[in-house]
Amino acid sequence: MSTTKPPSIELLLPVPVGTVGHSCAWLCGHCRAVHASKDLADGCVYCCCSYCKLPTDKPHQTYHDACADAMLAKVERDRFEKAEKLTDHDGWVYCDGIAHNNGYFPSLAELIADLEDDEIDPKEWPEYAWTCAAIPFQTPCVDTIIENITSDMFEDAVEHINGREELKAALAAFGEANKSLITYTPDYRRAVLIPRPA
Ligand SMILES: [Zn+2]
Ligand SMILES: [Zn+2]
Repeated sequence: MSTTKPPSIELLLPVPVGTVGHSCAWLCGHCRAVHASKDLADGCVYCCCSYCKLPTDKPHQTYHDACADAMLAKVERDRFEKAEKLTDHDGWVYCDGIAHNNGYFPSLAELIADLEDDEIDPKEWPEYAWTCAAIPFQTPCVDTIIENITSDMFEDAVEHINGREELKAALAAFGEANKSLITYTPDYRRAVLIPRPA
């Protein structure tokens, strides 16, 4: 990872003798891309990390790997600072960095049991887990399905479709048959603190 970037280079337009010239362009000191201002050239988007503004290791890399990690860590810290902190929670939790089930557990107790099973020193346990929000099974909408089917058909085909009520009833039964399929996603507004064994 570079620790310096050569200074940006000011381009002066040749102007007639006796008039005052002004800079119209700046070259990035590293990759020589042209920019409209010194600030843009200093933080050149073509060769610099958007986080630390220093040249990246590879071309077309938006962030250094370490900078991307630092940014994610900051996002996580900020989220946690703002979040409501619970001492207990009844329901699914998500803990980043845990391999088992990608970090999702039906309860805080199961997360703790996993940490214990892995014989992780309680001093190394994560400080908190995120609570989870439940996303119910989404039954497909009859209108959307018919729209998709008829989109490449003749004009106004949608008005000639038969069996709409039958499809609606079938979809309702389909939704009912799958209603136990719930997706959990982290709710970054509420964290639950993980108690350490006494
Ligand atoms: Zn550049
Ligand atoms: Zn960087």
